[in-house]
Amino acid sequence: MPSAADPHARGSGVPDGVALPPDLVEADARLLVDALAARFGWAYAIWDRADAVTALREQQLDEDDDLSDAEWTRAARTPTWAALAPLARHVVQDRDLIGDTLPEAGIACWLCSRRLTAPPGTTGRLCDRCRIGPQGQPAVADPVTEGLYWLSHGILMYAAPRAQDNAPSHKGLPVDVADLDPLATARAREAQAALHAFADPSGEGIRP
Ligand SMILES: [Zn+2]
Repeated sequence: MPSAADPHARGSGVPDGVALPPDLVEADARLLVDALAARFGWAYAIWDRADAVTALREQQLDEDDDLSDAEWTRAARTPTWAALAPLARHVVQDRDLIGDTLPEAGIACWLCSRRLTAPPGTTGRLCDRCRIGPQGQPAVADPVTEGLYWLSHGILMYAAPRAQDNAPSHKGLPVDVADLDPLATARAREAQAALHAFADPSGEGIRP
């Protein structure tokens, strides 16, 4: 039984001033949830009648088999069905997937988890202490790619380039193995060349 403090507690009503259409059908309800999730950035998963029908058809090897309303209601009231969502939530929590969004979003430092408040284009998703170049100089993030080069244990690292879909997906991979977008790759190679030049005392080290 969820407590009042449980942010995931489910209510049975809707907010004041909001009314569900009395003739709302299940398919439209799904679309409504999709629209609300897209609007507010929710990540969610729903298992519904269609999933039960799919399972039935797979078990029976009959692609035309279907559930009656009464059968679907019985399936939805089983203990196993009730355990689906808590189990999924447990997996997300167990893998700390939501925690992983913080460094990806530039809200926490990629290396030390220190809180960041400036945008990724400024921080490169690293705090001031971690954002240092090979000579200890401040490293500057690329405001276009939001990427950042830095040296860690002798390996040139590149953090969080913006992928084609705008989702940063690389966690400080060595540039030799990171599958970066073309612009970021070119810049990373330039930076790596600069790293080699750094062996020359006159070199200026890495600059994005
Ligand atoms: Zn840090």
